[in-house]
Amino acid sequence: EDYLVKVQNLKKYYEVSKGMFKQKTIIRAVDDVSFSIKRGETYALVGESGCGKSTTGKTILGLTDATAGEIYFQGKDITKISYSDMRKLRKDFQMIFQDPYASLNPKKTVREILMEPLRIHKKFEGKEREKKIHEILEIVGLSKSHLHRYPHEFSGGQRQRIGIARAVILQPDFIIADEPVSALDVSVQSQVINLMLDLQKEFGLTYLFISHDLSVIEHMTDRVAVMYLGKIVEVAETEELFENPKHPYTQALISAVPVAHPREERKRIILKGDVPSPANPPKGCPFHTRCPFAMDICSEKAPEEVFFTDGHKATCHLYTNSKEEIKDVIRNS
Ligand code: SF4
Ligand code: MG
Repeated sequence: EDYLVKVQNLKKYYEVSKGMFKQKTIIRAVDDVSFSIKRGETYALVGESGCGKSTTGKTILGLTDATAGEIYFQGKDITKISYSDMRKLRKDFQMIFQDPYASLNPKKTVREILMEPLRIHKKFEGKEREKKIHEILEIVGLSKSHLHRYPHEFSGGQRQRIGIARAVILQPDFIIADEPVSALDVSVQSQVINLMLDLQKEFGLTYLFISHDLSVIEHMTDRVAVMYLGKIVEVAETEELFENPKHPYTQALISAVPVAHPREERKRIILKGDVPSPANPPKGCPFHTRCPFAMDICSEKAPEEVFFTDGHKATCHLYTNSKEEIKDVIRNS
């Protein structure tokens, strides 16, 4: 397989001081995560806020250092390369943020915002740069008349188009989009998503799409990894995941997605309680405090990965225990 990005045993731990005595606590924001993204695909990381998906994205981009693990980009382990090599690579991967307003310099015009990456990475010269800026503006659905305006003069959707233009102007291979449409009105969301899909075709982009919104993920992505408390609990092709979710956490997330046809209404699984603190994750299966199917073993032993098909796996004792036990669980739930 042709993988563009390969993440292996990635960990990102933080130390924080808490309480009166400033006790040090370790937050396991990303706790031994592995996945690979094929060239040209849109790979989703989904989960509730605080599950580690944004931290995973930032670590891949080098915005924060990994505590352990490897991140291969085009076959090179980017956790080990020099600062100057990283700088050269940086033009090949870019980020689209949730809040374009916060990520666009309010004192710069659209032209200046788009010129900056070209200057930093010494791409094109003089007139060529201007031409490139006009071209990219048009591609994202803005025009020359917007060149000398400032971010605050645009709507949320237009600002995200500027953020996207800035991300693609260097023609990167890989884009991490962290909740790129969550701050936008639903009516604008689909326009921005369609723009991202068009750009993917046009430039052969590979996306890591980070979101808590399963309806957007269903519409937009090829494969999904579901994260809970810093770990990946299930991976599958998007269609397969929505039709045949295996992990109880995935089942609960999907059961909450509104469906178009009332006939297909899924039984809603309501999770009890909040996500536990990553400073003190539950022993055994991290999901056992909220899982409607939890068994005795779940609070004692961490489950292992079980493969259902080549590309579909989940980490859950339901599929490692005997069939009899599973029937019991389902009967009693
Ligand atoms: Fe639920 Fe146990 Fe599976 Fe964890 S291992 S998801 S607690 S059934
Ligand atoms: Mg986040």
